[in-house]
Amino acid sequence: PDEAGPRPKWIRKRLTLKKEFFETQELVKKAGLNTICESGQCPNITECWSRKSLTFMILGNICTRSCGFCDVMTGRPGLVDEDEPRRVAETLAGLNLNYVVITSVDRDDLPDGGALAWANTIRAIKESCPGLGLEVLTPDFKGDLENVDVVMDAGPDCFSHNIETVGALHREVRPQARYERSLAVLKHAREHGTALIKSGMMLGLGETNAQILETMEDLVAHGVEVLNLGQYLRPSARHLPVQRWVKPEEFEMFKEEGEKMGYKHIESGPLVRSSYRADLQAEEIAQK
Ligand code: SF4
Ligand code: SF4
Repeated sequence: PDEAGPRPKWIRKRLTLKKEFFETQELVKKAGLNTICESGQCPNITECWSRKSLTFMILGNICTRSCGFCDVMTGRPGLVDEDEPRRVAETLAGLNLNYVVITSVDRDDLPDGGALAWANTIRAIKESCPGLGLEVLTPDFKGDLENVDVVMDAGPDCFSHNIETVGALHREVRPQARYERSLAVLKHAREHGTALIKSGMMLGLGETNAQILETMEDLVAHGVEVLNLGQYLRPSARHLPVQRWVKPEEFEMFKEEGEKMGYKHIESGPLVRSSYRADLQAEEIAQK
């Protein structure tokens, strides 16, 4: 069981299955593509898929890393599927969306960390779906900033990289990542061009509110403009336990504090995930 006790009522989600949900499910299945919505057992899947909002995961579904909160399988991934960029682009053209998020497993086994595959996917999507807003949620490429450039040169509209947790918990939560390295990747992406820069964090892993606010200050100082904050939920007994249930009013406080710090947009709530409402967020930011 979680250290924090049973799930409070604000964590439970009402499920309403609409026909659009099943249509999206069918398209994803037919294309043989992976989504983090499914691999990560995301609690928002019915809501997002009904709105035709989803997050594709490229470069396979086996990750070289083993973050303590993540339900994606760890192991040795297979060869890079050279045809994947084309299939992702073709599926997206069929879905007729305004906005999409693409993410990937970490490919520390590849010399470029998968940067070329990322760039090929971005270019294929831009060619097949002109006008589609494209957000990329990338790994840290082990801090190799040349690989960040390869991704940025392909021209995503939004570059996102999750810091996931406060610096003090990195060793336990993201053992193969480094807090400072993720900040450097975000800063480099900010300096590279005009894409919107975004990050995300899970709360309730054992950090204090003061540490959260400190991390938010670090992120904004490194060029992050949009931040998503959500409650960590334990995918299974093998994963890190939830240390506390962050209250809805605390999420509200982080949003208010973040706006004072200078963020363009903060999405903060128990069930917020890094790609949650990404499509609507982009619209709201454009209207500001
Ligand atoms: Fe999961 Fe990403 Fe960590 Fe891999 S790097 S284990 S996909 S969070
Ligand atoms: Fe998928 Fe993100 Fe929505 Fe979850 S929040 S269902 S991962 S698009």
